[in-house]
Amino acid sequence: MTFAATVLTLYPEMFPGPLGLSLSGDALARGVWSLEAKNIRDHGLGRHRAVDDTPAGGGPGMVIRCDVLANAIDAAVPADDPRPKLLMSPRGKPLTQSSVRELAAGPGIVIVCGRFEGVDERVIEARGLREVSIGDYVLSGGEMAAMIVLDSCVRLLPGVMGKEASGTEESFESNRLEYPHYTRPREWEGRAIPEVLLSGNHAAIERWRREESERITRERRPDLLER
Ligand code: SAH
Repeated sequence: MTFAATVLTLYPEMFPGPLGLSLSGDALARGVWSLEAKNIRDHGLGRHRAVDDTPAGGGPGMVIRCDVLANAIDAAVPADDPRPKLLMSPRGKPLTQSSVRELAAGPGIVIVCGRFEGVDERVIEARGLREVSIGDYVLSGGEMAAMIVLDSCVRLLPGVMGKEASGTEESFESNRLEYPHYTRPREWEGRAIPEVLLSGNHAAIERWRREESERITRERRPDLLER
């Protein structure tokens, strides 16, 4: 089954962009997932295809109109489409590895990318858009945030990552950051690979990795240990 992504944006030419390369690009070419980017401006008003207007109540910037965005959503997504509809938004629920897993297990996603000051609140309610944030900072548009959501989902689809296992030992799975990695050469600029990793003792290696993982999480992200 193909994981189907539909992105609504004012800049469809930004897609697939980086998603067309490497792991996600190969998977796209193989049909493991599909991507369509729809231009919200196709539903813009008048000769200039206007999509935005000034904020009610005053203030700086422009707001994407609810009627225009709703028409774009309705044209791209049938009413009985089972896919969740996301709106990229700094006010949204923060994206986490567990929400990514949930999304990746489903039929796909529809993602609306905001621009300017954002979108008219009424379309969020009327079309049941789920607001999702990628972190506590402000981007100039939702496109790169949408790419982050898609990249994190696509790598979890069956057959995308080389080893099925490499998804389950990573950072944030079981609320821990990952242990350090090493590869050849064995010694570099006077720095050696930790002896235990060369010992061939798999139980000892696993214990070391677990301890390192706990230490790094405690130092850098104590909030994860409380979850
Ligand atoms: N005025 C808004 C910010 C608008 S930024 C506010 O203060 O909340 C323009 C668009 O960029 C947003 O509509 C959203 O789609 C996107 N965006 C900005 N920061 C984001 C973030 N941290 N996560 C997800 N999307 C974001």
